[in-house]
Amino acid sequence: MNRRNFLFASFGLASTPLWANAFPKSPYTTEMLLGMGELLMHKETIPLAKKAGKAFEKMQKAAKKEGVVLQIVSGYRSYDRQKAIWNRKYKANKAQGLSPEQNIKKIIEYSTLPGTSRHHWGTDVDIIDGSKPKVGDVLVAEKFHNKGPYTELKKWMDQNAKKFGFYLPYTKNPNRKGFYYEPWHYSYAPLSISLLKSYTSLDLNKVLITEGLEGSTHLNAEFISTYYKENILGIAAELKNF
Ligand SMILES: [Zn+2]
Repeated sequence: MNRRNFLFASFGLASTPLWANAFPKSPYTTEMLLGMGELLMHKETIPLAKKAGKAFEKMQKAAKKEGVVLQIVSGYRSYDRQKAIWNRKYKANKAQGLSPEQNIKKIIEYSTLPGTSRHHWGTDVDIIDGSKPKVGDVLVAEKFHNKGPYTELKKWMDQNAKKFGFYLPYTKNPNRKGFYYEPWHYSYAPLSISLLKSYTSLDLNKVLITEGLEGSTHLNAEFISTYYKENILGIAAELKNF
């Protein structure tokens, strides 16, 4: 096994990595944190890093016993995939007549700058209830409340998700800044907390690649600084517990 494979394979096993002493600040590579590395997936059907995928599978089985079908809409996402999402949204907003500032503001209501998505880590997942009929966009907050199709899923997750290590980063808390409320997005805390800790040691102005990114001239240091504080760290307190 070459060194590269060894790093990623070990990521899946978690615990204290062997190379932790050599890199005391970050047990993860910069590539891995930015969604540019290869991740060892749990299974094709569960696109999450091994430990997170295993925990998700357990949770899925428990939910199924109570009639809730946890279906993954999105799990691990690469830098390139996030870049394609960003550029598609930017072009669509531009066609609607939005200025570059309005455009970026609109995108970051729900989507991240490539290189800053929690989905890059293989620890975060967007889910719906697969037993319900799908009509139009599924990742809509209202659908998880009141008479929406995913209300039972939300209720089950509220009662059980934390037992399996899964937490909502983008809560409904009005004091939270950054991304809007996402009742479908869960993060596997036992892994994502340490990934975030490593992530905070990165200098985003140096590592973020804005080449080929729509609106990149407006992504200056001031923007990145606010985005870091409000969006990247604008998550539930439990997931910043390091
Ligand atoms: Zn998500």
